[in-house]
Amino acid sequence: MTAAEAISETGRDFIRDIIAADIASGRHRKIITRFPPEPNGYLHIGHAKSICLNFGIAQEFGGQCNLRFDDTNPTKEEQEYIDAIMADVHWLGFDWGEHLYYASDYFEQLYAWAEHLIRDGLAYVDDQSQDEMRANRGTLTAPGRNSPFRDRSVEENLDLFRRMRAGEFPSGARVLRARIDMASGNINMRDPVLYRILHASHPRTGAAWCIYPSYDFAHGQSDAIEGVTHSICTLEFEDHRPLYDWFLEHLPVPSRPHQYEFARLNLSYTVLSKRVLTELVRGGYVKGWDDPRMPTLAGLRRRGVPPEALREFVRRIGVAKANSVVDVAMFEHAIREVLNAAAMRRMAVLRPLRVVIENYPEGQIEELEAVNHPDDPDAGTRRVRFGRELYIERDDFMENPPKKFFRLSPGKEVRLRYAYFITCREVVKDAAGEVVALRCTYDPATRGGNAPDGRKVQGTIHWVSAADAVTAEVRLYNQLFTKPDPDVGNFAADINPNSLEVVIDAKLEPALAADNSLSPVQFERLGYFARDKDSAPGRPVFNRTVGLRDTWGKVQGAAAVRKPDEDGDIK
Ligand code: ATP
Ligand code: MG
Repeated sequence: MTAAEAISETGRDFIRDIIAADIASGRHRKIITRFPPEPNGYLHIGHAKSICLNFGIAQEFGGQCNLRFDDTNPTKEEQEYIDAIMADVHWLGFDWGEHLYYASDYFEQLYAWAEHLIRDGLAYVDDQSQDEMRANRGTLTAPGRNSPFRDRSVEENLDLFRRMRAGEFPSGARVLRARIDMASGNINMRDPVLYRILHASHPRTGAAWCIYPSYDFAHGQSDAIEGVTHSICTLEFEDHRPLYDWFLEHLPVPSRPHQYEFARLNLSYTVLSKRVLTELVRGGYVKGWDDPRMPTLAGLRRRGVPPEALREFVRRIGVAKANSVVDVAMFEHAIREVLNAAAMRRMAVLRPLRVVIENYPEGQIEELEAVNHPDDPDAGTRRVRFGRELYIERDDFMENPPKKFFRLSPGKEVRLRYAYFITCREVVKDAAGEVVALRCTYDPATRGGNAPDGRKVQGTIHWVSAADAVTAEVRLYNQLFTKPDPDVGNFAADINPNSLEVVIDAKLEPALAADNSLSPVQFERLGYFARDKDSAPGRPVFNRTVGLRDTWGKVQGAAAVRKPDEDGDIK
């Protein structure tokens, strides 16, 4: 399904259509949604889709969106994740106001409802081992078998359940199950587990509990407690909906939410499973949850992706009912678009090659005017210093160039952006034959980059004055995985060994040394870059957020057509 198909005729997606109809029919006056992360990892770009959907709907329909931590599994959940999730939702541009909730706040109520089901003969304590339960659950084609403990009396069930709560039994010894139908065609309805014994301390309730509710038993009732009208989740919960409804039907809940499912975001070259992301961090494949190669919001932020780009990307992919994989190039396209409009332009040289302008007076420095943003005159201009020694990009010189190479080569003339025409006169090599410098001449009549005699050059290259340049570390990122659909079962085999390339000797315009407001910034002809938190005084570190073009697509052959850029330069 394409993004366009996912947006309905009304210009909305199917969930927004449902909500608009519910308002029109008077079924709901105030719309309440929720974003329900489990605090067992950092948020990723898939969560951003869910956040934009839930908070976006609340904004558009004048409703409310709760942030609710689904903290029912204390062995995997940590305060660090709770804090990171809150910071990420705010960064993305959304606010839950006073509506911050935790499923653990409802533990007492959920427990009371479990006793309610027991009293109604709708739940029982099961002593089967996990293996026995699994064996008796049946399969997609074969029905399950009733537990030998299924017909315990209400009194016995209540007694055992209270003793489970009191801590009389070891972890895993017993569970509380709903008494529904072991022959149901929907395995979720085959007497699902409501409570398990887990002697584990919880980040919020500490040692108060040693039994914890299952996701299914907690989720719908938490929605009901909060008055959630539309409980929006991903498609894998579609088969849980009958169970979601069953609890609401059989319990005296204060409201009646409805669950709607949409297709989760899958992105090519990207893994969005929290289990795998956790292993990437713990296994040292990346340098933490905020490593700029991670698809986490913390990683994307550090990489320099603006929240506007995430929101715009999510808007464009739409909300569909069928799973699909979105090309990561589409995400990068949204990033480029936002940064193209917002980022100031500066000059930086990643792999410097020294250029000496032979006929430029020794010791002379002049200041030339450079525009800050080609499409935004209000962004103004700045002065860049020009001197006898400069750095240019190694790639912008070739000693024996092919025919269509319009940049610098022996005897050729090019334009130095905002400065002069220069001509390469001599190539200086070291003992190993390596090019170490170029000796050039400049034409003083071409100041500002145009020749009074109307003579043209085919290439324009960027440069940095050697006397002023600031040396920086620049980190270039490529896809973390080599395949569009990495094998989540054996992800290590698909990790790209070249996902990070560190340039330690980049040369930047001096303004980039200190000014944090210049981030993210476009390094002209190279891409968009953001200052990294590893920067030290006098030693900035920049991350490449995204290149100017889809270089990955080029490698894949997708962008085989190579057109000259604005300067007539084939790259
Ligand atoms: P994982 O499956 O990797 O463990 P999760 O989906 O269980 O992640 P949660 O913290 O439970 O992670 O997710 C919170 C919310 O975000 C849920 O409503 C879930 O449906 C939604 N969500 C998670 N991943 C995606 C995704 N890739 N696209 C859209 N929504 C997602
Ligand atoms: Mg989940």
